[in-house]
Amino acid sequence: MTIGYDDLEIEEDWQPLSRLPIGSSLCECTGCGLIFKSPSAFDMHRIGIGNGETRCATIDEMQAKGMCINAKGWWVTRGFTFEAAIAEHEARRHG
Ligand SMILES: [Zn+2]
Repeated sequence: MTIGYDDLEIEEDWQPLSRLPIGSSLCECTGCGLIFKSPSAFDMHRIGIGNGETRCATIDEMQAKGMCINAKGWWVTRGFTFEAAIAEHEARRHG
């Protein structure tokens, strides 16, 4: 039997330019290359400009929304408190 092009298995989410590990929930903005810890953080980064179009928020605009960048260089929806970090760690360990 011959193997045609259609038989090649390519992961649906495969992106040649992405620097993100496979299976992570991180989001990389294809517009500006910033990395977001979650889809919700990415959503806050995209600003509607009408007609269903969006643009990247500037750093100032993201900070104005309360967004922060964490120690790993990922943008998050808000500053992490110590308590929130512990809760997240616990949830992951049990989850
Ligand atoms: Zn962007």
